[in-house]
This record gives sequence, structure tokens and C-alpha cells, in this order.
Amino acid sequence: MSQPIIARCEAKGLRMTGQRRVIARVLEESDDHPDVEELYARASKMDSAISIATVYRTVKLFEEAGILDRLEFGDGRARYEDAERDHHDHLIDMNSGEVIEFCDPEIEALQERIAEKLGYRLKGHKLELYGVPIRKG
Ligand SMILES: [Zn+2]
Repeated sequence: MSQPIIARCEAKGLRMTGQRRVIARVLEESDDHPDVEELYARASKMDSAISIATVYRTVKLFEEAGILDRLEFGDGRARYEDAERDHHDHLIDMNSGEVIEFCDPEIEALQERIAEKLGYRLKGHKLELYGVPIRKG
């Protein structure tokens, strides 16, 4: 079990203002891959005084502290998710933009074997698949 985002921020010595706490809570409650605009929309519902600039600066700060992972799925928009979520990879539906999470033990094992063959112990990876739905029938 990973600690809540707010606790991790405090452990990293980040000064947690009220607005940063709101943004941390929004991130904590998100199980998708929101971009800054989406995070701003969600944070605004909790605190209408939050500006998009504050959201932008805060996610950057959290990203630099290793609390958030920054993702880009080919559309030039940065998206964020909790860096401590259980490992998974992403498949991006190129028609709808929907992001599907998956974790495949065969891929995980294959990547380790490849790294080993090249003389490395694997410490992490990023995998993004891009596809269009297969029309059935
Ligand atoms: Zn994800």
C-alpha cells in the first residue's frame, strides 16, 4: 500500500498550502489520466479560487518530486497519474482517445529477458500501444 499523495508530498518537504492539498486530493481521487485542464476542472469544484496556473505549477512540482508520472499519448497533451499506482501499461484508442490500462505477465517477463540478454537488470519500463478497434462481423 502506498501512502496518500499529501503524505508523500510532506515527506518530500513540499510546503502544502490549502490549494496544493486540494490538487493532491483531486489526484488521489483520479483513477484515469487527466491533463491539466481536466485537473483544473475537478479542482475548481472543490475550490473555485484555484487558477489553472496554480494547477499547472503544482503538477509540475509533484512531477519533479516523483509523486506524479507524466504521460504523453501522442496528442501533445501532458497527462498525469499517481507514480505509485500499481504498474500497468497503456493502450490508446486512436479513434476515441480512450486510454485502456493493462498488465500482461508475458510482456513483463519478455522485457526482463530482453534486458538480461543485453546485460541489464530491468528497473522499469514504459509501454504504450496505439490502436483502432477491430470491427467485428
Ligand atoms: Zn495508467
